[in-house]
Amino acid sequence: IQVSAFDLVVFGGTGDLAARKLLPAMFQRDRAGQLPDAGRIIGVSRRPLGDEGYLDFVRTSLRDHVKAADLEPEALARFLARIHFLPVDVTGETGWAELAALLASGADHVRAFYFAVSPDLFAPISQRIKQFGLVTPKSRVVVEKPLGKDGESAREVNAAVACVFEESQVFRIDHYLGKETVQNLMALRFANRMFEPLWNSTHIDHIQITVAEDIGVGERGGYYDTSGAVRDMVQNHILQLLCLTAMEPPDAFEADSVRDEKLKVLKALKCINDRNAEHCTVRGQYRSGSVNGQPTPGYLLDISKEESDTETFVAIRAEIANWRWAGVPFFLRTGKRLGGRTSEIVVNFRPISHSIFDHTAGRISQNRLVIRLQPDEGMTLEVMIKDPGPGGMRLRSIPLDMSFAETFGVSNPDAYERLLMDVIRGNQTLFMRHDEVAAAWRWVDPILAAWSNTAQRVHHYAAGTWGPSASVALIERDGRTWLEDS
Ligand code: NAD
Repeated sequence: IQVSAFDLVVFGGTGDLAARKLLPAMFQRDRAGQLPDAGRIIGVSRRPLGDEGYLDFVRTSLRDHVKAADLEPEALARFLARIHFLPVDVTGETGWAELAALLASGADHVRAFYFAVSPDLFAPISQRIKQFGLVTPKSRVVVEKPLGKDGESAREVNAAVACVFEESQVFRIDHYLGKETVQNLMALRFANRMFEPLWNSTHIDHIQITVAEDIGVGERGGYYDTSGAVRDMVQNHILQLLCLTAMEPPDAFEADSVRDEKLKVLKALKCINDRNAEHCTVRGQYRSGSVNGQPTPGYLLDISKEESDTETFVAIRAEIANWRWAGVPFFLRTGKRLGGRTSEIVVNFRPISHSIFDHTAGRISQNRLVIRLQPDEGMTLEVMIKDPGPGGMRLRSIPLDMSFAETFGVSNPDAYERLLMDVIRGNQTLFMRHDEVAAAWRWVDPILAAWSNTAQRVHHYAAGTWGPSASVALIERDGRTWLEDS
């Protein structure tokens, strides 16, 4: 179904995010017939490009980030006709009157301002939007991570935006929530009879959430060195995955109901601070090594520095202190230059209570549900069966496997496609509310403080491995193993 008439104003329209994600996502939705004729995309940036110059930028972005087969000339021409560009210095006055005039020609359109710029520009941009009277009842604003570097700065970013926009107009993007598998996690839990009764500490032994990248810090070294894995991945993406895995059933699949339940999970996370950080967390940093058979440099060389204390890997043993999850550890880990590019949630069920089989049947593995976000979105349920054949009762674990690409014969749309359409529709279900962001920082801030107060060491790991051995020790102390290592 087509969305309503809209103007999408992308501040940072010539940036990397616009090129890699926003423009390709809007192009794909246009191809799918979801954009109405009265749908405009207005790129805004400091660069003094003319319309033609920006159209070249858009063409190049699409060529680089959209499959060649999808770039049908007709679809491309239709998309390019939607594009406008205005050079605006968001910290000054130039360009704003022109932007106001352009927007006035679509006064009744949904107006979405996308802040694809550094967060220190959120306040000046919001102020100018107010000053030029650009906020209409149908306006919304989309803000990208990082939403602060701690609770305090997150409050400031939020306050800057909240001076101009109501909370119901603010869309805080965490693109993990736009992934098909993540939404499928909710379908799996709440549209099936068979999982929810088992979804608790009586039946679940522990949960692992891994977001592993094989790439290093690339061009973002300068930013990354001031951030690290916890701020870059845990505070947002991993905690969001944890929330969706652990939350109580919301009363409806509706923005505030879902967000209320996620918030309760964040509030129930047990505090990790100076007292227990050493026991519950492991920090790592990659050294040189080999990834996919290619020798790769270490982190310090990547960021051209002599030394750095920043973690490129973190493993955390988290606990949720509530009735459902008491005693079930959540092992979280993420890192750069690891042994593969995988993101997954692994739900490990408890062993059966009694085996009726003798030792010749072999070991009975615990059931395991693996929800894969990357690289091949899908789910696997590992169950025990009898080995086929006349050889007696031999048991074996097999995966009941569902790859979305195979099952549905199409590859999944990019998360930004779904999320951008939700912005235009005004559906906030898959976006974070300000109190969620604040609660996530309330859990993360004491961890970061503990690391600094106790000078917790950074363990080195060779690029292309699964992190420092201390991470293996963290989970093995509990009698469990990481999925890749088992
Ligand atoms: P970028 O440096 O590639 O682009 C920044 C854009 O902002 C450019 O278009 C630039 O012209 C514009 N800009 C900067 N100062 C300006 C000014 N004074 N007036 C007008 N325009 C100005 O950055 P990016 O990688 O596209 O990231 C943008 C934001 O999105 C950042 O906050 C980043 O952390 C976040 N983000 C990026 C990605 C990504 O994949 N690139 C992913 C998640 C979040």
